[in-house]
Amino acid sequence: MTTSCFRVSEHKGQRRVLARQAISQGELIVVIQGKESRHPMRYTVQVGENEHLESTASEDPAKQASHYDWRYLNHHCAPNAYFRGRSLIALKEIPVGVEITFNYNATEQQMASPFVCWCDHVACPEGHTVSGFSALGPAEQEALLDTCQEHIRAVHALG
Ligand SMILES: [Zn+2]
Repeated sequence: MTTSCFRVSEHKGQRRVLARQAISQGELIVVIQGKESRHPMRYTVQVGENEHLESTASEDPAKQASHYDWRYLNHHCAPNAYFRGRSLIALKEIPVGVEITFNYNATEQQMASPFVCWCDHVACPEGHTVSGFSALGPAEQEALLDTCQEHIRAVHALG
């Protein structure tokens, strides 16, 4: 049986992914799996220039949890994880029970379904919309580059 270091919990009607155990900085949290698509959709994560991964459902609950529950990862303006390709990596130490998040602007060039951020970060401008890297200002883009996917950095390098 495959065990994962995270679990899904529901809080005020919102599903989120919590650390099931303490996760060290730099630790691989999950390699996401799913159906590939050439276009972004509401629940896809961009893993390459024209590569978007959509979580699919599995009949096997253990496989579902370890491979596909990543779809409940929420956006955060100061996240504790980031993506390198399909690998979700801990950006800092994540204590047990803490929500695991990543910055959607670091994976998505242009989101299919932009939304108003409701994360609790002090520097999160109230009412700002998360719509992808291309919608960020130059300073915001620069600050985010280190944790961005390769395809975002490649486009950014071209200017
Ligand atoms: Zn925010």
